[in-house]
Amino acid sequence: MNMNSLLYNMLFSLQVNYFMKHERTVKRVFIAAFGAETNSFSVLPTTMKDFQASCLIRPEQKKWPAIANDGHSEFLKMTEKMGHRAIRGTLAYTTPAGPLTQLTYETLRDEIIKQLHDALPVDCVLLNLHGAMMADGYDDCEGDFLEKIRQIVGSQVPIGGLLDPHAHLSQKMIDSATILLAYKEYPHTDFAISARKLFKLIDQTTDGKLIPVMRHYDCHTMGAFPTITTPMREFVDQHLMQYPSPKILDCSLIHSFPWADTADAGVKSLVVTDNDEQLAESYAKAVADEFIKIRSQLIQNYDTIDTAFSAINQIKDFPAIIADVADNPGGGAASDATFILEQARKSRLEKIAFGIFWDPFIVDLAYAAGKGANLKIRLGGKASWFSGVPQDMDVEILELRDDAKQYFGDDGDQRSLPLGKAVAMRHGNIDIIVSNLRIQSLSPDCFTEFGLNLSDYTALVVKSTNHFQAAFSRISKNIYYVMTPGALTMDFTSFPYQKITHPMWPIDQ
Ligand SMILES: [Zn+2]
Repeated sequence: MNMNSLLYNMLFSLQVNYFMKHERTVKRVFIAAFGAETNSFSVLPTTMKDFQASCLIRPEQKKWPAIANDGHSEFLKMTEKMGHRAIRGTLAYTTPAGPLTQLTYETLRDEIIKQLHDALPVDCVLLNLHGAMMADGYDDCEGDFLEKIRQIVGSQVPIGGLLDPHAHLSQKMIDSATILLAYKEYPHTDFAISARKLFKLIDQTTDGKLIPVMRHYDCHTMGAFPTITTPMREFVDQHLMQYPSPKILDCSLIHSFPWADTADAGVKSLVVTDNDEQLAESYAKAVADEFIKIRSQLIQNYDTIDTAFSAINQIKDFPAIIADVADNPGGGAASDATFILEQARKSRLEKIAFGIFWDPFIVDLAYAAGKGANLKIRLGGKASWFSGVPQDMDVEILELRDDAKQYFGDDGDQRSLPLGKAVAMRHGNIDIIVSNLRIQSLSPDCFTEFGLNLSDYTALVVKSTNHFQAAFSRISKNIYYVMTPGALTMDFTSFPYQKITHPMWPIDQ
């Protein structure tokens, strides 16, 4: 070999080394979303059409609608910010309803699995999940999905899964993922912060700086646990936001989702440490013990429709807020229950507004008739026995909007969420917002976008269990959580559970 070719070879290998090193720092990050919160007692099946109406975005689509749980947008932003290469899979998320049809689940699962397979090799996988998805034939969709993802990428590639705390955490999920991390707040105003934290932990794991170990502890408890009031607020601040050791990377509390019948249901603490199994186990147990100590203080007392109406007749600051907690579409209810509307028509409350009824048939009628039209309608009470009696009413069409939005999230992380094809209508002293989509009432925008002036009303009735509180508490101190016989009743003894693991507090005292 002469001097020239020796020099050439040296230069060539220097270049190859440089490119290999440089290429290695540009990670290939596979990002997808697949989520639904399944109410297994709901009679509304979840189909491909429901994903299409909420969020079903293929990789070639550049823009997509914001949803309340869009952790995937944060993953994509962070990937870009770090100079890594995002390889996008499908983003599929939908409004809660009954179990997915088997075809819907397997079609979306296999679509994402194929995208990942085609994208190999990847350095890590980030998934925006929910954690409470069920389908015909699959009680633990996330466990099945994560297991298949693991089979594709092998044992060494980090897999991060972002969860809603209203999840059913399974051993299969823990065994398949590298890190699972749930939002800490309910209302889930911290979805974006949580996504960024998961991204950073997975990124450091990919660099070999962390060796995550997960352990969980089962509290054998179910219920709804808002994080805004004491003592849950302090529990979150003391145990989920700060940790006794720097080796604890994250601690989530899985809150349970009681309106589903599955063996993995229940409250669980979930701890991730840096390569310390014992610490993960002991902190998971310690946090679970702390939760069990306060759980009996967390049972919410609910008003009846009558007690809420009587209380509102005594107050002077308007509008009061009435939460129709059992007809929250965000928990899988139909959002067409008429229990409170029926009583309001008989009550002496001066002026009252309802948001947001789901009744596509009435929306079509209103659009055909036009703004200002007077119609005789039969509203609500249609989806199931949880929906009450349909209401026959004469109404005037006040406003039609198919571009109205409401906002949700923390300052800086707010998302504007579409309100569907919607109509505002008036029946005497009652104004009602009706949409062709099942949408939880998350902010006063769901009234003001239709020209309704909030100060005109004695009460605003919102179909939401707790998420409404983040924005509506800014306009009213008088909030009444009203329990009706709707789909999300808190009387768990009324549900025919077959599969949950006993003992389960408070069902088994
Ligand atoms: Zn949730």
